Amino acid sequence: MKSIAIFCGSALGKDSVYLNVAQNVGRYLAQQDITLVYGGGRSGLMGVVADCALQAGGKVIGVIPRVLVDKELAHPNLTELHVVEDMQQRKTKMSELADGFVAIPGGAGTLEEIFEQWTWAQLGIHLKPCAFLNVDGFYDDLLKFLTLTAEKGFTHQRFIDSLVAEDNIEAIVEKFKHFAAPEPKWGMVEKTEFLVAMDQ
Ligand code: AMP
Repeated sequence: MKSIAIFCGSALGKDSVYLNVAQNVGRYLAQQDITLVYGGGRSGLMGVVADCALQAGGKVIGVIPRVLVDKELAHPNLTELHVVEDMQQRKTKMSELADGFVAIPGGAGTLEEIFEQWTWAQLGIHLKPCAFLNVDGFYDDLLKFLTLTAEKGFTHQRFIDSLVAEDNIEAIVEKFKHFAAPEPKWGMVEKTEFLVAMDQ
């Protein structure tokens, strides 16, 4: 596991538990020599994760759409910063750069990003692991709901089982190391083939 993408809030959240977890994620990835891939900004938890990884001597790669460079305050001191044309390019680039994906607490943007990677795994665009860092029960209700989608016949149970949910980054990285990807719904597909199909 050489690199992990962290999806997280562009806000700090109202409880210091979120700040603490973001700090720990940044530091731990640096200590493990795992490159942090993230949205490239300095706002909210995004900035905290990046700053802590950099302070601990880690490598940090940011990917930010041009239109958000000023709004999310593109980080000036990253190991690499990719400025891309739009959100889809951001997510595609982050997906290529990372060996696994973790959502720490955040809002709609965080959820959109982790769900896209999880659905790409189901479609066979990649075979990389996805996780929720469920600190302080933040994702309990969401995880329950996902189980319901399987119970009601809308998600294969193997894709639910493939999601990693732990309350600390150490346990997530450990599970990522032993991850066995579930069989994609319709076998593997070429990403280019899939993205062309989406455009039509
Ligand atoms: P949030 O969790 O809503 O604070 O957003 C966290 C990050 O997700 C921010 O960097 C947003 O720019 C990003 N984001 C929001 N919507 C999207 C989207 N549709 N695709 C990719 N990233 C997004």
